[in-house]
Amino acid sequence: MMQIYNSLTKKKEVFVPIEEGKARIYTCGPTVYSNAHVGNFSSFLMADLLVRYLKYKGYEVKWIMNITDVGHLTDDNELSDSGEDKLEAASKKENKTVWEIARYYEDLFMNDLKVLKFTPAFKYPRATEHVNEMIEMVKELENKGVVYETSDGVYFDISKFKDYGRLSGNSLEALQAGARVEVNEDKRSAFDFAVWKKLTGKNEAHIMKWESPWGTGFPGWHLECSAMSKKYLGETLDFHTGGEDNKFPHHESEIAQSETANGKKFVNYWMHKSRVVVNNEKMSKSLGNFFTVSDLVNKGFSADSIRFTFLSAHYRSKLNFTEEQLKESQKTIDKFNDFIQEILNTHAADKEAGIAQDIKAAREQFEKGMDDDLNMSVALASLYGLIKTVRKKLESGISKNEKDIVIDFMRSLNSIFEVFDFEPRKFKEFSAEEQKVINELIEKRNRYRAEKNWTEADRVRDELIKMGVNIADKK
Ligand SMILES: [Zn+2]
Repeated sequence: MMQIYNSLTKKKEVFVPIEEGKARIYTCGPTVYSNAHVGNFSSFLMADLLVRYLKYKGYEVKWIMNITDVGHLTDDNELSDSGEDKLEAASKKENKTVWEIARYYEDLFMNDLKVLKFTPAFKYPRATEHVNEMIEMVKELENKGVVYETSDGVYFDISKFKDYGRLSGNSLEALQAGARVEVNEDKRSAFDFAVWKKLTGKNEAHIMKWESPWGTGFPGWHLECSAMSKKYLGETLDFHTGGEDNKFPHHESEIAQSETANGKKFVNYWMHKSRVVVNNEKMSKSLGNFFTVSDLVNKGFSADSIRFTFLSAHYRSKLNFTEEQLKESQKTIDKFNDFIQEILNTHAADKEAGIAQDIKAAREQFEKGMDDDLNMSVALASLYGLIKTVRKKLESGISKNEKDIVIDFMRSLNSIFEVFDFEPRKFKEFSAEEQKVINELIEKRNRYRAEKNWTEADRVRDELIKMGVNIADKK
């Protein structure tokens, strides 16, 4: 049984799929007006982890991640919908058309997904290609009497949805008392959100536009996810994931629209990735700690180390992202890969060493951790423990069959981590002269070790490593 912390009910719940053996997952994808940063990817990687673990458990997973290429206004998160379209703002700044901006950043995003070894989603639907579905949904909301038209758009009347605020823990009264919202005379409540924007006022020259029963205009940001999730996954989803920042008003509004239009529960399990800070500071361009994937790769960090850093921390704990941590992750990955090489290179013994039981125990512990709201620290501890146990047994030998069992186990875990390397490493060839030098250095090191002169012994070992010689001290 797998338990997931449901952000809506704020407790861990046993996962019961809508359809036996299947899982439908929707993830709010990027708004393609700039480069996605590592904070965005940490949230997408939480979804990747969920998808991969469900597949590991044998579920047939249908995963949808949308591309927001219209309608996300610059101050959508500040509860006003009077801001500028994010794509249009970028278009002016970069002197490209909005369409060029959208495709350019979408391509970069898709490339980053590949670099970070994401499992492919079923589809990455673009908002601009689903405007008809969105218009249909607005019509449905109109039939239900929850939206109203003003001079500049069509708005959802949140007083008509009693659960508005439940996900983010905001009561309507608290919202009204606390927030500064730009006054829009036509709106019944400052918190009513747009499902359709007309080409008037600030939006008069909006470039991406479509015909609708409410005049020419463009869809509201929240509406996109409600319409696209319905089209590809149906009226009720198993999981909906996103960043913590998406809870309000975005997800809150998705729930109001979808549940009113469809008359059904929208999402069974909501998952939110907690925010990432960099060097204990909020990520921002002005602080210079706003990293994209390619920034870090250009600095010499591997994409695997970025991937592993985010996967290995629990998604609900606040992650302080540092370069130090990327280095640590790389060391851990190297350790796993060294272990795999050791297994591959070890000569099989005739007798068995009880490895099958060790693997069984490690697998059970791994799954126990993952089944508990994807608790990666418990899951990884099982792996560290296993490596220690198997290494000890390697000294007196394990059988061919046991070697295979270990490798199979590591392969099955790699269907989740995607950072292990099973390609047998090629050994470097040395000339007779080089061999002589190497042997001398090894003897020298052994002498230092016998004298307990660890500093010198380590220095010699570093010299050997530089030559391409790795030394392991065993019984
Ligand atoms: Zn969304």
